[in-house]
Amino acid sequence: MTIRMFDWIYLTHKTPLWQGETTAEEQLRRQELENKVRKALDELTVVERAAIERHDFEGLSLVNIATDLGWSCSRVQAARRRALRRLRKVLAPFVQERFGVSLPSTDCPICANPFRRDAERIIAARKREEPYSKVISKLRHDFEIVIISPKTIIGHMKYHC
Ligand SMILES: [Zn+2]
Repeated sequence: MTIRMFDWIYLTHKTPLWQGETTAEEQLRRQELENKVRKALDELTVVERAAIERHDFEGLSLVNIATDLGWSCSRVQAARRRALRRLRKVLAPFVQERFGVSLPSTDCPICANPFRRDAERIIAARKREEPYSKVISKLRHDFEIVIISPKTIIGHMKYHC
């Protein structure tokens, strides 16, 4: 399983939950979470499940999965996005209890997005003189993050990460 799936846990935690998984305790912690994720897969649709299992567990590219199943790449991509959102919701109580990590603020569309880290990279790459509207439309296009005011971006970067 790729670590990327757990970006949302990482990012709400100031220190990463595991770093290179050197100790037995870290390995155990990751194994426990992985088991939970596998169980949570039952909550997904067939398409969503295929996207997660084949991409995140087996490491196949989304393009390969799409070709294999005869679906469009955007369908697989959208399914994975939905699946991550669903998994996060299903796993939230466990993660909160076990790791003491609470779900990111649901009021903030950046926090609530599974591709939060990629979104933050785009925000950080904005040049000082560049208008926020450009970043806002890119976030909407790439990650379906809907932002109404630049204040959301500024607030997120200041208080949520
Ligand atoms: Zn935020």
